[in-house]
Amino acid sequence: MQIVLATRNLKKVKEIREILKRLDVEFLFLKDFPEIKEIEEKGKTFSENATLKARKVTHLTKKITLADDSGLEVDALGGRPGIYSARFARNDRERNRKLLRLLKNVPASKRGATFRCAVAIAWPNGKIRVLEGKYQGKIAFKERGKEGFGFDPVFIAPRYDKTFAELGLKKKNRISHRSQAFRKAKKLLKKMLHQDTR
Ligand code: IMP
Repeated sequence: MQIVLATRNLKKVKEIREILKRLDVEFLFLKDFPEIKEIEEKGKTFSENATLKARKVTHLTKKITLADDSGLEVDALGGRPGIYSARFARNDRERNRKLLRLLKNVPASKRGATFRCAVAIAWPNGKIRVLEGKYQGKIAFKERGKEGFGFDPVFIAPRYDKTFAELGLKKKNRISHRSQAFRKAKKLLKKMLHQDTR
């Protein structure tokens, strides 16, 4: 069976493929459908945005589609940037610098933040399921680590006292918001496929 993974972010794809490995399906990507243009994220929640994307792509491809939306909610910023994380600044480097600048005078005890991820699975017959994951941590005082993407160098995982960028893919995937949401999606897909993939 073929499933479309509706993301263009190669770093995300790497994480998701690792989580969904051993699921006996063939993954297709948006690059396999060059006729599909950028889909606007018009929703008010991660779940709405993931649903919009998955519905649109399943409609265009006639294949089961997985789409995710994710972002970082920072306590000291009243939950910003949240669903606007990708639009917070021009690129990863500037997004991290801006966040550290905004939190310059915020003490360690008030630097809490939560990564959230929603995955929507859409079927061509109109069925839709949404699975969610979250991970709470803290914003560092400076960037640390070279792995991962996005806010990984400034996001500290309390369990390890390391940033996601210091942890690397395997450990990040044990705990992250994305791995929680996609593991739930994997379970559901496995049930659907009646596969024993463990
Ligand atoms: P989107 O899910 O493609 O809309 O991207 C959301 C944005 O949130 C990304 O561009 C990153 O800045 C941030 N983000 C989401 N998940 C992660 C993560 O696992 N690590 C670091 N940043 C993330």
